[in-house]
Amino acid sequence: MNAVSAIINTSALVHNIEHIKKLVPKSKIIAVVKANAYGHGLFLVANTLVDHVDAFAVARIDEAISMRNKGVQKPIILLEGFFADEDVELISNYNLTTAVHDKEQVEAIEKARIDKPISCFFKINIGMHRLGANKDEIEELKQRLNACKNVVKPLGLISHLSVADTAGLEDYNNEQIEYFHKIAASFDGDLCLANSAGILSWPKSHTDWVRPGIILYGISPFADKCGYDHNLEPVMTLKSRLIAVRRVKQGDRVGYGAAWRAERDTVLGIVATGYGDGYPRNAPNGTPVLINGREVPTAGHVCMDMLFVDLGPDSKDKVGDEAILWGDGLPVEKVASRCGTIPYELVCHIMPRVNVECI
Ligand SMILES: *Cc1c(COP(=O)(O)O)cnc(C)c1O
Repeated sequence: MNAVSAIINTSALVHNIEHIKKLVPKSKIIAVVKANAYGHGLFLVANTLVDHVDAFAVARIDEAISMRNKGVQKPIILLEGFFADEDVELISNYNLTTAVHDKEQVEAIEKARIDKPISCFFKINIGMHRLGANKDEIEELKQRLNACKNVVKPLGLISHLSVADTAGLEDYNNEQIEYFHKIAASFDGDLCLANSAGILSWPKSHTDWVRPGIILYGISPFADKCGYDHNLEPVMTLKSRLIAVRRVKQGDRVGYGAAWRAERDTVLGIVATGYGDGYPRNAPNGTPVLINGREVPTAGHVCMDMLFVDLGPDSKDKVGDEAILWGDGLPVEKVASRCGTIPYELVCHIMPRVNVECI
């Protein structure tokens, strides 16, 4: 029996992508599967989605090459471009599409000796200040890419929204979208802007291509919502078991650093999941875990392989009973907000020793 499993519900994944397509009927879909498909398993997710999407996107060239080696034939986009000049040859050989965000990348493409030109999205900075050409660089870099025989024409345009999910910064988000459209007016190629939050809330950001990431996995990008609020279904359920059930007396001090003290006689459950599986070490006392249909609070510091829950004095729970850390019945959004992080981080942190199973 596995101590911890990440159960991946492929029908939820299909439900989510089909729902997303209804939200953006005029756009082509790039499924974002970077970081092992947000911890859900790259190949499992890519195989499930391949007939439902137009393209995939990843962050690193090795992720893209491993998909090609597994037979994925759809376009694969490198969201951050490439990090070494030699990669241009790989991009051409593996038929990848790359973002091009600065002068160094333009130079590398100009210098590359390749037979087959590469598809590019020129990336501009519209307000995040992370990657992308600034206003005063756009014209020159665009002209050079358009003049370059190594680049497929027409050149696409891509950017990324920094506050599409942030309450109170709607004006700043609107400015970013408007600026993108202003620059886009002089581009003939495809446009690509919206992430998950853009897809859900900002119709003006819906262009030729959209890039859903977190919503594919049934998770909300907004701090005060969960997937169900958007008619999305959670794809990952992280499951474990009780491996011990024990009585403690009022005043007993529990776990490393005695970080929790029993306020009454109660029953503790020991769940076989810890930070060595990717459960957050900083989960505070009271973080919910779902056991036998009820939410019970964590108690004390999360250990590497185990964590404690307070099952309550009347507990009838037994060794072997299932514990759901997040997913079906317990939104990962709720766990993340208790832990002072975002659900993206929790699902990405699933460790290799966790057994990934699909249903
Ligand atoms: C990760 C990423 C996305 C997907 O973002 P979500 O919020 O998960 O939808 C889209 N575009 C870029 C450039 C990214 O890095």
